[in-house]
Order: sequence, then structure tokens, then C-alpha cells
Amino acid sequence: MADWSGGNDRGPTPKADAIWTCVAGEAPLYHRNRQAAEDWLTARIGDEIDAGRRVLAGFDFPFGYPAGLARALVGEDDPLILWRWFAERIEDAPKANNRFDVAGEINRLFSGTGPFWGNGLKRDIHDLPRKGRARDFDAVPEWRVAERRAKGAFPCWQMTGAGAVGGQVMMGLPMLWRLRDRFGAAAWPFEPLEDKPLALVEVWPSLIRKVVAEAQRADEVRDAAQVRVLAAAVAALPPDRLAKMLSVEAPEAAAEGWIFGLGHEDTLADAARAATALKPPALQNDCFALPPGVEWTPVDAALALLRDRLEPVTATETVPLGDALGRVLADPVVARRSNPPLPNSAVDGYGFACADLPVGDPVLPLVAGRAAAGLRYEGTVPPGHAIRVLTGAALPDGVDTVVMQEDVELGAGEVAFRAGVKAGANVRRAGEDVTAGDEVLAAGRVVTPADLALCAAVGVDRLTVRKPLRVAVISTGDELVEPGKAAEPGQIYDANRPMLLALIERAGHVPVDLGRIADDRVRLRAAFDAAAAQADAVLTSGGASAGDEDHVSALLQQAGAMSLWRMAIKPGRPLALGMWQGVPVFGLPGNPVAAIVTACVFALPALGLLAGRGWRVPQGFDLPAAFSKRKKAGRREFLRARIRDGRAEVFRSEGSGLISGLSWAEGLVDLPEDTAEISEGDAVRFIPWSGFGL
Ligand code: AMP
Ligand code: MG
Repeated sequence: MADWSGGNDRGPTPKADAIWTCVAGEAPLYHRNRQAAEDWLTARIGDEIDAGRRVLAGFDFPFGYPAGLARALVGEDDPLILWRWFAERIEDAPKANNRFDVAGEINRLFSGTGPFWGNGLKRDIHDLPRKGRARDFDAVPEWRVAERRAKGAFPCWQMTGAGAVGGQVMMGLPMLWRLRDRFGAAAWPFEPLEDKPLALVEVWPSLIRKVVAEAQRADEVRDAAQVRVLAAAVAALPPDRLAKMLSVEAPEAAAEGWIFGLGHEDTLADAARAATALKPPALQNDCFALPPGVEWTPVDAALALLRDRLEPVTATETVPLGDALGRVLADPVVARRSNPPLPNSAVDGYGFACADLPVGDPVLPLVAGRAAAGLRYEGTVPPGHAIRVLTGAALPDGVDTVVMQEDVELGAGEVAFRAGVKAGANVRRAGEDVTAGDEVLAAGRVVTPADLALCAAVGVDRLTVRKPLRVAVISTGDELVEPGKAAEPGQIYDANRPMLLALIERAGHVPVDLGRIADDRVRLRAAFDAAAAQADAVLTSGGASAGDEDHVSALLQQAGAMSLWRMAIKPGRPLALGMWQGVPVFGLPGNPVAAIVTACVFALPALGLLAGRGWRVPQGFDLPAAFSKRKKAGRREFLRARIRDGRAEVFRSEGSGLISGLSWAEGLVDLPEDTAEISEGDAVRFIPWSGFGL
């Protein structure tokens, strides 16, 4: 994207109102004058084309004039002949050019005064008025059709003044003509893009001015922010959207040109927001390294380490409330408005000023009119008077107390009730729920339906949320067969993958199914590459120990970023953690019972942290045991369990291959390291699946 300029050399120091360019994903570049900018554009576009890439180059000035100019100058409506006409006449040097003279020359072709106006030079130019008001012409329209639709655009006849584009067009078209000539480019929308290596496209960053303002960095020149954000947005457009924006239906576009994205501002703004959202840095390779000398890691020490080393990896985006359910808040939500915004009535009844009540049972004259929800009573209720109010009505001036309609007797134009109504009765104070400026929701919160009500009430209609965490799942093992396929006696069905995919979905992340991989290092490596490209984290099952066929740990080891955690946990034990191309990999044991226990205990809290939710400790509660058991002290144990009659029952066997017990269970009993013996009736901690976030 290029922000062009019609002015003279701006000196060596980057500044505003000069030429700025930005290649999507790179830093904006300053060019002190048009010659330097054209050299750079020519070199860079050449490099891109040589590298086999097609280029869309955007320039922020009109590619054509209102219909009529071309006919007057070159005798036909072809805007490209107009480009050549300017290329032949414009003389351009860093410190001087003939743009005002050319404007005067064109004006001379028309009867009347104009259409060009504005002279930045000291000397007068014959036929070029200094003021737009001095013009008088009717041969060409003031605006192109596109400019009439683009709010805030300037007409191309204006050659001077803040925001004027007249000079830019004249000083830009010759450069476009040369680029088109050199690279065989297509000038949009005049020529089909087809398979041309370069598309020259008219853009206007003000179409997304709000996003540019949001994304502009503290010390960034606005022109730099404009080209940076626009380049990022266009590069991020899905191909179908891009194609749609490039196909223009307005018939005038063929002669006058068009503004890319006009009529698609929201799509462009969304792409810009998504593309410029801050992305957190990648995690360090050594983030899973255990302190030296650690042999069997206690579960809590491992959890503390994960909590300490991991951080959110998801980018942020701003979405309307309707799209925010279940999303993770990236920023706290601050009330823009108090709730209620004004004091209002909690009941249907009669309002008055309490301090002015007479002694004894009051009988108050009623003022005409009433206050209802959404219908303010504009007057002031005089002391000693009452007014009809309905639930939710803002209290009229002069009212601070409401008596319920059930507690009054209504006469002709008056209302009577018993003495003793308390000041402020039946009134909701302004801000009694929330005061404007309060933080109502913390970052990291997963948005609930009730949160949407709260946000709406306090005037917040868009939320900055994190993109969902994408979690890839891979099963490994030569023995695995896809459910539904014929299985040899020595084969087993892949049970972990459907379980882990569902677990991720239940936890609110996006599962990415990468299938089954045989115990084959080459294939597994390819699967890891695919996972790192498509997901923010990876769960594998199987092959996580240190045996010959344990390729998950072997591969991570080769990548130089693996920690084999030997956990003091049953079931579970080996857990391979590593980084693959910056993406954390959780190598879970193959055994389905061990896989789900380690997923619940280690992976889910870690994924929550990566997703931006902060660290959540699984929530359980104590129940009397309906079983007795001896266990090895020094090892944490998780048993498949369920609640019956207020007690925690465990599955009949602890065999770690028994998947039926997993399905039987409604949660896990969590037995601490130091416990050695449990008798019936002892309190044990039960964690329902929902306590893990499932
Ligand atoms: P591994 O960790 O690869 O040594 O596997 C341990 C045990 O879990 C072996 O008996 C495997 O057959 C079994 N296993 C591994 N992956 C799966 C799976 N996806 N579904 C069911 N069982 C599995
Ligand atoms: Mg295996």
C-alpha cells in the first residue's frame, strides 16, 4: 500500500504528509520524495515478481477523473490514454514540478473558469483560480461517482489545501503509467486482472479510519499507520471476499475508476482488526524443562511449573455482543454507563418528595401526567404533590420516594396512603447496580449469557476477545484402526482420539483432528508440522515413554525441546512435553484411562492458560468414601468414581485399560500423595467431570 503525495521533497527524517509505503507484514517505509518512492516500488515489485509472486499494489489517489475530462483532453473516455497524456506532460523533480501549470493548461481547454483550482505557487497561473468559489464550469462534474459515495473524500479538481488530492493524482498517474508499462500490470478496474503479475489498485485508507485510529501506535505517523493497517487488511482478506471487492458493478467505474472496498467497509474493517490485533510472543523452547535432578515429579510441582511457564498464545479481535458467548475476554470490561442510569421506580405506584409529607396519613393532590419506563416526565412535581409512576420510570424532578399502588386509595385527583412510608422507598438508586467506570468483567473470563446482559446494560456493545484456541489431536500406534473399519485380532480401535477431540470441544476450544499416525518417525514429523501450522497446541496419545516405538518423545527430543516428565501419578506416569515449531505439544500416555486423567489434570488447565483464561484449579468437593483402599504413599492417585447416596463410589477395578470404567465414572476421586490408607466413610475429594471444565 502506498500513501502518495503531490508535494516536494520532505527531507531525510520520516514525517507526516510525505510518501509512505507498507508491504503486508513488514514495517512501513518513508520515502522523502516521489523519485525515491518510485525507485523503491520498481525494485520491490520486480523482486516480488521474480520470486514468482503476484502483487496487488494500492495507491491512495483517484485513478481517474470525473467522466468528461478524458474526452476533452484525448477525445475519448479511455482513462489509460489519460494516464499517458499526463505521463507525457508532467515534469517532476524533487524540488519542483509543473502540476499547477498543467492544471491551468487543462482549464484553458474548457469554457468558463475551472474545473481545476488552487495554486500553491507565488506566481499567478493564467486560467487557474486560487479559490474554488471563483470557478464557473459545467463541462465536467465536480465528483466521481465513487467519491459521492465515499464520505469525506476530496474532489480531484482541488490542487491545494489540507487533504487535497488534485496534485497527487497528477503526480501519481505518470508513475502508475510507468509501472504498468514496465511490468505489464493491470490497471484496476479498467483492465481485467486475469493472470497479470501486478494489479494497480486505487485505495482509500479513510474507508477504515476507525480501525486505523485504534491500531495507530504511540509514536507512529498517521500515514504510516494507514498503509500498515490497510496492507494487513487486504492481505488478510479471504480470496472470495477479495474477488468480490475487486469486481465492481457501477458502470461509471470503467471511465472514472473506483475505490477498492467501497461498499464493503465492514468486511475490510473486520479484516483490518483481525490482522492488526496484537499477537503474543511465542513460548520459549525450554518452557517445559524441569529443574535438574528432579526424578519423580509431584503433580502439584508440575502444575506450578506449567502455570509459571505458559502464557496466552491466542490473538485478540473485537466482536459484537452477539458473537461473544463462550469467548475469552482479552481485556476487562468497563461500564460506560451506570445501571440504572437514573433513579427509577421499582414498582407501579405514586411518587412524591418524602420530606414534604404532612404529619399524619397523607392525602396528596396528583399532578397531571405520569412517568413511565422510557417516557420521562419533563416537569417538576411540586412539594406536597404526587405523580403516577410505573415500574422502571425515571423519577421525575421533585420525587424521591414511591408508594406502591396496592397501598393507596385513589380519589378524584388525589391519592391517600398511610403515614410511615420511608424516604427512598421503592426507588432504585442510580448506579446502585453498577457505576459508570466500574470494571464489571475481568480479562480471562469466559463470557456467559448473563455477562451479555450486563454488558448491554452498561452500554458496552463490542468486546475484545481472544481467538479460540485450536488444539490438534493425534493418535499414534501401529496397532490402531479407525472405528468402523475391519480390525485384525492384533489391532485395536482408536479410542483416544474421539475422546480427546470431544474433551477439547467441551472445554471450549476448537479441536483439530489430525488422525492416526503409525509408529513411523517420518510420518509423525509431517503430522507435527501440519499440527504446528494449523493449531496453537497439540495433544498426542501413545508413544510418549522412552521405548523403541515411542516416537513422540523421540521426535520432540530431536527437536531439542523435550522434557519427559515422570509424574508421581497413577494412572499416567510418563508425560512428554515439548515444543514443535513454537507450538506446545502434550504427549499423553496411550492408555485411554491414563490419557484422560493426564489430559484432565495437566492438559486442560494448561490449555486454559494458553487460551487466555488464566489458570483454573479443578473444582471438587469432599464426600465420604463408599470404598476402602490401600495405596502407595508419595504418589497421587485418581480413581474413576461417581456419587451414589451421597458417597463416592469407585469402579470395581483400577485396571488402566478398562475403558468401560471411564464411561461408568462421573468424575474422579483425587487421593493425595501422603495418603496410604482409606477406610469407608473417610472424606475423599471427588471432582466431577464438570469440575475439570467438561
Ligand atoms: P503406548 O503409550 O503407545 O505404549 O500405548 C500404551 C497402551 O495404550 C497400549 O496398550 C496401546 O495399544 C494403547 N493405546 C495407545 N493409543 C491408543 C488409542 N488411541 N486408543 C486405544 N488404546 C490406545
Ligand atoms: Mg504405542
